[in-house]
Amino acid sequence: MGKVTGFLEFDRLEQEYEPVARRVRHYKEFVIGLSADQAKIQGARCMDCGTPFCNHGCPVHNLIPDFNDLVWRGDWRQAIEVLHSTNNFPEFTGRICPAPCEAACTLNINDDPVGIKSIEHAIIDRAWSQGWVKPQPAAARTGKSVAVVGSGPAGLAAAQQLARAGHAVTVFEKNSRIGGLLRYGIPDFKLEKSHIDRRIEQMRAEGVVFRTGVLVGALPAGSKVTNDAVETVAPAQLMAEFDAVLLAGGAELSRDLPVPGRELDGVHFAMEFLPQQNKVLAGDTVEGRISAAGKHVIVIGGGDTGSDCVGTSNRHGAASVTQFELLPMPPEQEDKPLVWPYWPIRLRTSSSHEEGCAREFAIATQAFVAGSRKDKGRVAGLKTVQVQPQGGRLVEVPGTEKEWKADLVLLAMGFTAPAATVLEAFGVERDGRGNARAGTGLRDGYRTNVPKVFAAGDMRRGQSLVVWAIREGRQAARAIDEALMGATTLPA
Ligand SMILES: Cc1cc2nc3c(=O)[nH]c(=O)nc-3n(C[C@H](O)[C@H](O)[C@H](O)COP(=O)(O)OP(=O)(O)OC[C@H]3O[C@@H](n4cnc5c(N)ncnc54)[C@H](O)[C@@H]3O)c2cc1C
Ligand code: SF4
Repeated sequence: MGKVTGFLEFDRLEQEYEPVARRVRHYKEFVIGLSADQAKIQGARCMDCGTPFCNHGCPVHNLIPDFNDLVWRGDWRQAIEVLHSTNNFPEFTGRICPAPCEAACTLNINDDPVGIKSIEHAIIDRAWSQGWVKPQPAAARTGKSVAVVGSGPAGLAAAQQLARAGHAVTVFEKNSRIGGLLRYGIPDFKLEKSHIDRRIEQMRAEGVVFRTGVLVGALPAGSKVTNDAVETVAPAQLMAEFDAVLLAGGAELSRDLPVPGRELDGVHFAMEFLPQQNKVLAGDTVEGRISAAGKHVIVIGGGDTGSDCVGTSNRHGAASVTQFELLPMPPEQEDKPLVWPYWPIRLRTSSSHEEGCAREFAIATQAFVAGSRKDKGRVAGLKTVQVQPQGGRLVEVPGTEKEWKADLVLLAMGFTAPAATVLEAFGVERDGRGNARAGTGLRDGYRTNVPKVFAAGDMRRGQSLVVWAIREGRQAARAIDEALMGATTLPA
């Protein structure tokens, strides 16, 4: 275990951020990772408690006390081996995971938790810089082939595991670049895209074939889902050509706000706005660019996606940024004895909020208001009312109606489901929420009702987190390997 008295001697160290005034002038990452000495001290705080709740709180079950101890002892080489044994892409989670492990840390009961995420970040960055992350091609080929539809973290994790098990893996991606929401949703200032590119090179060397710009099946008519496809492949063709198919297409349909004025120019889904910025930074040509420069921006939706819209709008040079959340403001501090080791509901202030944003809670949008005369097709404001919980519902509070000025409105209210057309084309049943129906059990996990078709990630579980997508991709790969070979040595 770390240092026996480490948790008594050392305080939690937070990773530092570049000052707001500097970082809003660029789109690069601004978190300054822990130095080797700082990470060592952080590792020393781990108590290696008999039951590692952190390990259970982490969806990929990272062996946290083990790598904490290795970092404390300076054995970074072994630390990355341990970290990679449960997580294909710690450079993603070490940057953007909300760290449910830290909520579950035993130290978090009456002190600050171990900075697990910052240690993970330090281990993987050191491993890359030292050249320790190398391709691991399979020792023998199985002769079996697998098609993976979707190149987000679920598809990538599955593809890497399957290739290392010796299968011939082809990843089909409708967009022009690999990465799913890592590439087109999450802004560069949270995750620079070179991290994805490096992994793609590693996976290519392990034998994974990537086919970009290829849509499998069809998207619903009129959907505003990101789609750069120049080619379409029919599901029947994949079924005929591959021994197994994994559907990892995410849950891409954005939740809409069908109130009067929704059709006005200047009202956009977050996932129209954010991908454009990432494309511009990648050097791609973007037509009809949505700019927040000089505008009064209102972001509807108080979650991560909304926060990313806030950060991006401020970098565009917005005149003002306001974020609406339908639910009432949660408490600033959770009641730890009541909620530990679970993920607490409390007020979360992201780095994007710190960069400038007015936050409004318990507020519902009733209508978008058009401008006058020549601007009558454009949004100029919106009408709201305060709401409050009553009888398990949110009800409007009379007399709280208000009008707001807005030149750009971004809808960031989450995602409803995957594209039904794709699942239907494979004949895959959907659950009550419209996701691909498949369990997660060790015996029948990730199998859909259609023989040899599996599903994982947001497409199976609904909108979630990168770390859950990695877990599902890894577990789906195990299920596929077992189905193809009759047995598997891939980890559960
Ligand atoms: C703006 C935003 C910010 C987020 N921030 C965070 C964060 O900070 N931390 C975190 O943990 N999570 C975050 N998330 C959630 C996280 O990104 C997702 O849960 C995760 O990416 C899901 O992974 P996935 O592989 O299942 O699907 P996705 O990442 O959605 O990838 C699916 C891929 O499949 C492709 N595809 C779909 N259908 C087809 C088809 N028919 N043919 C070919 N290709 C297809 C899509 O183009 C896409 O590339 C964020 C999400 C958004 C939208
Ligand atoms: S992946 Fe997320 S939950 Fe797991 S150890 Fe890393 S930060 Fe914690």
